[in-house]
Amino acid sequence: LFPYTTLFRSCREAMKSLKRRPRPALLAPHLITERAVGRDPVTAYVALGANLGDAAAALRWALQALDGLPLSRVLRVSSLYKTAPLDTDSGVEVAAPGSDYLNAVLALETGLSAPALLDALQALELQAGRQRPYRNAPRTLDLDVLLYDDLRYHEHGLTIPHPQMHLRAFVLRPLLEIAPDCVIPGTGTVKEALQGCRQQEL
Ligand code: AMP
Repeated sequence: LFPYTTLFRSCREAMKSLKRRPRPALLAPHLITERAVGRDPVTAYVALGANLGDAAAALRWALQALDGLPLSRVLRVSSLYKTAPLDTDSGVEVAAPGSDYLNAVLALETGLSAPALLDALQALELQAGRQRPYRNAPRTLDLDVLLYDDLRYHEHGLTIPHPQMHLRAFVLRPLLEIAPDCVIPGTGTVKEALQGCRQQEL
């Protein structure tokens, strides 16, 4: 796992490129319903990954698209990390098939509710050509909600904090980069969780 810098030469450069561009309206206005809107804007953390096709282009596109979501703007972006595919679904990490991933994490200020944010991420995955032929299949774009303020949530197919985030160095390391004091509600600090992933070669 190592920072891979060709996507954005620096986080600052990524943020500058966001400010230069007009914000695309990627979601239909009807998605902004009363149910979709949270009461106050919160900071959510989103994990981005891809290991199929032009992964760097997919992540660059996703960054712009997330900044264009209704009631949302990107606050911070991590470096890009190149990581070996890993399956943590069983609670321990096992090597998974496929090419190396490019991974990053970003902080998103959003007025969307947590379920509406997941809906939006899944719509973007589909737009990026995401298919799910089998579990852990290589993917053109994977977007996960890691944290949504200090919310703990487990309903309608959505779990927050993301149930495997504390087991994944490829998530924790970029998260720590943009949020050094970040706490995973119910688990502990990101720093401590990363200590537990030492075997994942950082
Ligand atoms: P995958 O895209 O293969 O990583 O998994 C997506 C599935 O995980 C979807 O069915 C989601 O409903 C479910 N899921 C549960 N919690 C989360 C979360 N915090 N972020 C993203 N997907 C989640």
